[in-house]
Amino acid sequence: MSFELAKSMIGEAALKQGLRYIRNNPEKNLVNLAKWGERLAREPVHKGYAKQWAEMFADENNNWRQLAVRGINQLAPNVVEKLGVNMFLNAGMLSPERRKQGEQKYGVHIPWAILIDPTGRCNLRCKGCWAAEYDKSQDMDYETLNRVMTEAENMGVNFFVISGGEPTVRMDDLISLAKAHDESVFHVFTNGTLITKERAQQFAEVGNMTFAISLEGFEKQTDARRGKGVFKKVMQAMDNLKEAGVPFGFSGTYTRENTEILGSDEWIDLMIKKGCILGWLFTYVPVGGDSDLEYMATPEQRLFMLQQVRKWRTEKSIFVADFWNDGPFTQGCIAGGRNYFHINAMGDVEPCAFVHYANVNIRDTSLVEALKSPLFMEYQKNQPFNSNHMRPCPIIDNPEWLQKMVEETNAYPTQKNGVTAAQLCRPLHGYAKAWGEIADKVGVEEPIKTT
Ligand code: SF4
Repeated sequence: MSFELAKSMIGEAALKQGLRYIRNNPEKNLVNLAKWGERLAREPVHKGYAKQWAEMFADENNNWRQLAVRGINQLAPNVVEKLGVNMFLNAGMLSPERRKQGEQKYGVHIPWAILIDPTGRCNLRCKGCWAAEYDKSQDMDYETLNRVMTEAENMGVNFFVISGGEPTVRMDDLISLAKAHDESVFHVFTNGTLITKERAQQFAEVGNMTFAISLEGFEKQTDARRGKGVFKKVMQAMDNLKEAGVPFGFSGTYTRENTEILGSDEWIDLMIKKGCILGWLFTYVPVGGDSDLEYMATPEQRLFMLQQVRKWRTEKSIFVADFWNDGPFTQGCIAGGRNYFHINAMGDVEPCAFVHYANVNIRDTSLVEALKSPLFMEYQKNQPFNSNHMRPCPIIDNPEWLQKMVEETNAYPTQKNGVTAAQLCRPLHGYAKAWGEIADKVGVEEPIKTT
């Protein structure tokens, strides 16, 4: 479908009208809308999808139906409209065609999302966090942030992930950027401690900001890594966002110490009760200055998390993504500009938030030129890094690849500690082999058997 055709068929006004209709009575109207879709669809495959959705939305016990109804009821009306348009129309339906046009024009592959850090500063100091390694004295200036986002939108990118450091230490700038880039989605990874009722209300008014708040587990685990009192502040931040109607979720890094907690039903039920719509799970990657291999979740713990997430997807009214174990859904690694990349607060253009090597700095190059950097080209040339998408990562699953790509492209280390790719990758081979033995026995679909 062409860009113009899509625009004419699924115009913003029509989408908003549909969203208003659903909001009036989501329990009933989600089903009605899906049934209309089934009647109107021309292609048998689209008819089939619509039929499945109608059946799913009609089933009160279906967890995805429960999530859709909860989300629509929980979010502020203007947030439902703004995010509906920005996420489904701009970043969803229109972005692929616009990026394709951009690719023809600029001769470079254009990813779907950009992860960018407005600051390396953080008001907390957590064990193993890469943010602690960046130079805290330098923020990315507003003009550069604004320029990158403008260049990105001109290329068809409408999804910005914001990280840090702690991005909310620059709350006013974040809100200004979200307003200035009104057609895009801002997904902010935050420690949540600065999200007051007033700020939550501002986010609701802006309408295109969503949040993922970091937790290590319950109060004991969170406060042990992040500092005393942080868990209670996060619970309050979640209440503030829920009350204001702003979408949010949790972000959890699972380690040897907390995998069974973050993977427990008790944990996910608490997150749903607090109002989380989504959750991000990341396995701990030893890339920081205080890297600790013994802190990594074991391969067996990674398998446990995989099993839990797959179970939750059939039972729980929350969307949980596991950054590594969901490799089959993304056909492997998404970094290096394939689907996303990372710009740190110093401006270094890195393939991934966990890969701290670069060839270029965005302060002195355009986004188009940055996307052509040798390390990105190597990434794209060699993806996927393993034929088994359960082993997607060139850092922890196939460390020989990261070392090779960084060395061959003469990429420089972006962390102050200057860890070389060889120093980073060498200790990870044992883990990669052990996980590989498990992953090669794991089916992409249920049931999961390893014996
Ligand atoms: S480099 Fe590893 S962590 Fe980054 S996107 Fe690729 S698979 Fe994921």
